[in-house]
Amino acid sequence: ATMPPMLAAIANAGRHGVLVKSARALERLALCDRVALDKTGTLTEGSPRLADVRPLAGGPLDENGLLALAAAAENPSEHPLAAAVVQGARARGLPIAPAAEFAAAPGRGVAATVDGRRVEVGSPARLLGEGTAAAAAAGEAGVLEERGRTAVAVLVDGEPAGVLGVADRLRPEAAAAVSRLAALTGAPPLLLTGDNPRAAEHAAAGTGITDVRAGLLPEDKVAAVRSAENAGRRVLMVGDGVNDAPALAAAGCGMAMGGAGSDLALESADAAVVRDELIAVPAAVSLARRARALVV
Ligand code: ADP
Ligand code: MG
Repeated sequence: ATMPPMLAAIANAGRHGVLVKSARALERLALCDRVALDKTGTLTEGSPRLADVRPLAGGPLDENGLLALAAAAENPSEHPLAAAVVQGARARGLPIAPAAEFAAAPGRGVAATVDGRRVEVGSPARLLGEGTAAAAAAGEAGVLEERGRTAVAVLVDGEPAGVLGVADRLRPEAAAAVSRLAALTGAPPLLLTGDNPRAAEHAAAGTGITDVRAGLLPEDKVAAVRSAENAGRRVLMVGDGVNDAPALAAAGCGMAMGGAGSDLALESADAAVVRDELIAVPAAVSLARRARALVV
């Protein structure tokens, strides 16, 4: 017996590395005519490495002290930045102390109690307030961001203690995937990221994306998707993180990066890229469209 076209297309998408959850999900994918992509873990490899450790000059911590506290606070987190910080500490042979009262705020960072001290690690723009130490940390973060790094601030008991720089590579196939998606949809792809504008511009320039929104919280990603849909487009949102989950659910079609992607993103999406290659995304769009053309 021959398979119905939609089922055949789901099987075929699977062979191309995309798991589509249902025939309806495939139809939603076929109807999309604008693409929104997350940066960290989606356009980038999502295996960032720790590149810089900068304790504040005149502060109480040296490089290893700063990194050890940050790694302890990050250890329970599933965020790719957290993995880079923990990995960086291990590479220096630093002990990673247990963390208590861990809390993660998607798009902002993490907080935990380590050796009786409250440690926060996250977005400089969101964690650093007023004052001399905050200004010094923000200055240092700016220097790192200028080089395309993702800078994260470290606060100990509410006081800025230093900044870490994390470097992430674009996926080798990112530019090709973006240009195929632009051609398929006839619309410029959108980059939606919680990262800083400079790191966002770096990724955009490397992939040919011109429509960039940076510094977004999870709800801001939803708003960006909604505004594209209100302008008459059906959006295919591609993302990997907990911070992408609401936008994946809100979009016409949500596609999660399966490789190192978070469980919440996978649950919120209509489809998952299981081969961990971005080029599978335009391939799946083409397949979905051809299958739908056969049944309607
Ligand atoms: P993206 O949208 O590019 O995938 P996220 O929204 O996940 O990025 O993160 C946005 C920003 O929030 C990061 O650049 C970082 O400053 C901060 N952040 C989020 N989670 C963490 C974490 N676990 N550790 C440090 N910083 C974090
Ligand atoms: Mg991400």
